[in-house]
Amino acid sequence: MEQRQINVLLVEDNPGDARLIREYLAESVMVSASVTHEIRVADAIAQLNEGRFDVVLLDLSLPDSSGLESVNRIIEAVPNIAVIVLSGQEDRGLIISAIKAGAQDYLSKMDVSSSSLDRAISNAIDRQATMIERDVLLRIAQIVSSTLTVGEVLDSFAIEVGRLIPINRLVIAKVNPEDGEMFDQFIWGDKVPGWDGVEDRPRSNSGSRRSLEIGRGMIVDIDNLAPPDQFRGFELAAAAGLHSAMFAPLISNDEVFGTLNVKSRRKDAYGPEHLEALERVASQIAGALRAADLYEQALMWSQEKEHRMLLEAEKWELERVNQSKSEFMSTVSHELKTPLTSITAFLDILSRNRPGNLLPKQIEQLAIMRRNGQRLDMLINDLLDLSRIESGQFSLRFDPFDANEMVSELAVSFEPLTQAKSQRLEIDMADNPIWVKGDQARISQVVGNLISNASKYSDEGTTISLALTQPGDHLRIEVKDSGYGIAEKDIPNLFTLFFRVDDATTRSVPGTGLGLAIAKTIITMHEGEINVTSELGVGTSVFIEIPGVMDQAEAEAELAATYRPMIPHSRLETLDNVNPRAA
Ligand code: ADP
Repeated sequence: MEQRQINVLLVEDNPGDARLIREYLAESVMVSASVTHEIRVADAIAQLNEGRFDVVLLDLSLPDSSGLESVNRIIEAVPNIAVIVLSGQEDRGLIISAIKAGAQDYLSKMDVSSSSLDRAISNAIDRQATMIERDVLLRIAQIVSSTLTVGEVLDSFAIEVGRLIPINRLVIAKVNPEDGEMFDQFIWGDKVPGWDGVEDRPRSNSGSRRSLEIGRGMIVDIDNLAPPDQFRGFELAAAAGLHSAMFAPLISNDEVFGTLNVKSRRKDAYGPEHLEALERVASQIAGALRAADLYEQALMWSQEKEHRMLLEAEKWELERVNQSKSEFMSTVSHELKTPLTSITAFLDILSRNRPGNLLPKQIEQLAIMRRNGQRLDMLINDLLDLSRIESGQFSLRFDPFDANEMVSELAVSFEPLTQAKSQRLEIDMADNPIWVKGDQARISQVVGNLISNASKYSDEGTTISLALTQPGDHLRIEVKDSGYGIAEKDIPNLFTLFFRVDDATTRSVPGTGLGLAIAKTIITMHEGEINVTSELGVGTSVFIEIPGVMDQAEAEAELAATYRPMIPHSRLETLDNVNPRAA
C-alpha cells in the first residue's frame, strides 16, 4: 500500500513522550510522516500559520497554556486543522470538551501505539477534510446563488476554494458560444503578465481547452511540461511564479461550457484528492454560472428588444412628422400660389399700360413687382415639387416636343432677368428642330433653373451661353457661365436638398438650394444625366443629357394622336406665359 505523505506538528513538552511518539510514527505503515516538534502553543501557532501541516498532535498541558485553552487557541488560530489531543491523566470531561471545541480525536498516552496513531491520524485528517469540504461546498452554494453576477462574489468564492485547495490564482474560463473560442471570464489572485488581458491568444493547447475536450479534470505540473502539455500560457504562468495547475470542466445539462482552473506557487501542490475537490466545486457552481449566463443573455435580449422598439417608435414618429411636414408644405404652397397667380396676372395687365396713363417711374416699379412675384412663384413651385417628390406623387408626362423651340421660348422669358444684370444670353443650336420625347414642362423647368443659376452666380455684364446638341439619340443641353465658379469639394453636394455653397457671394444671392436637387430628380426620371464642371473664379458649366430623340414625322404622328393642351409648370411661368386658368 502506498504510504500517505503527511506533515505532523507535534506539540509536547515532555521529551520522553515526544521521542516515543516520533518513534511510533516512524514505524507507521500507513503514513510517511514528517514531524515538526514544538513545546509551546505560541510557537505551534506560528508554525501552523505557514499552512503546511495536515495534523496536530497536541498535549494539553504545556508551558504557555493548559487544558482546554490549548485546543481553543489552536483551533481559533487555524480553524481547518485536524487536531488530535494527547491525553495523560486528564479526566474524561476535559477530553469531551476538547472534542466539542473542534478536536478530531484523542489518544491516551498510556496505550498509544504505532497502529492506534496511524488510525487516529488517518481518520482525523479524513474527517477534517470531509467536514471542511462539506462546509466549503455549502458556503460556495450560498455564495454563488446569492447573486447572478459571479464577478461580484469572486473573492469570497476564491477564499472558500482556498480552504480546500491551495490556490494563488483562480480562473473561470468560458466558451464563447459565437465562435467556440475560450476566454477568461473571471480571474482572481496572481496575475500572469503576457497572458491576462491579451486579446487573441491562441488557446488550442491550453489546459482549459484540453480539459474541456476530454470532459474531466486534469493536473498539470507546470515545471515539467512534456508534450502535449507544452503551451505558451504555462510558460508565462511559470514566469509569473506559478508552478502547479489544475483544471476542471464546468458541465451543465451535459454541456461542457467552460472550466474552473486554479494555480499554485507551490511545486507539486496538487494530488488526486485536490482534483476531486476541484471537480466537486466545479459541479457545485456550474448550474449557478449557467443560470448567470442565461440571465445575462436574457437581459441583453430584452435590452436589445427595448432598443429596437424605441428605434421603431422613433422611426414611426419621424415618418409621421415627415408626412405632416409634406402635407403642410403642399397645403401652404397651394394656398400661396393661388393669390400670387392672380397678383401676377393683374400686374401683367397693368404693365401693358393700355390706357397709356402710367408714368415711366410707375412702369419701372411694376417691373420690379413682377420680377419679385416671379421669384416668389419659383420658390413656391420648388416647394410644391419637393412635397410631391417626398410624398411620391411627382409624376411626368412624356410627349414629343421640339427642344429648339423650348429653348427659344425660355431665352425670351429669361430676358428680363438677364437684362437686369446686363448679361448676354447666347444660344448655339441648329436651325432644324430636335424632337425628343419627354416632359417638356419639366425639362424646361430644369434648363430654366440652370439659366437662372448662371445669371444669379455671375457678375453683371457677363455672357451666358446655351448650346443644344444631339449626340446619337440623346438631347444634350449645356449652360455655361463665366461667373463665380464652385469649389471642387462642393460639387458632389450640389444635388443634395437645401445645399448652398457656403460663401458670402452665394449667400448674398437669394436661393433655396432646391433647384438642382429637383433637376436631378427630373433628369433621373428621364433616365438621363446631369453633370457639373466648374472652376472657382472662372465659371461653371452644367449639362443635361436625356435619351429619346425621334424624327419629326414620328413625333408629329404621336402628337396628333395624343393632343392635350399643355399646362405650364413652375419656372416656365413667366411674364408673358401665365396660365390664365389659374388667375
Ligand atoms: P439655389 O440656387 O436656389 O441656391 P440650386 O440647387 O439651384 O439652389 O443650387 C445650389 C447651389 O449650387 C447654389 O446655392 C450655389 O451655391 C451653387 N450653384 C448652382 N449653380 C451655380 C453656378 N452656375 N455658379 C456657381 N454656383 C452655382
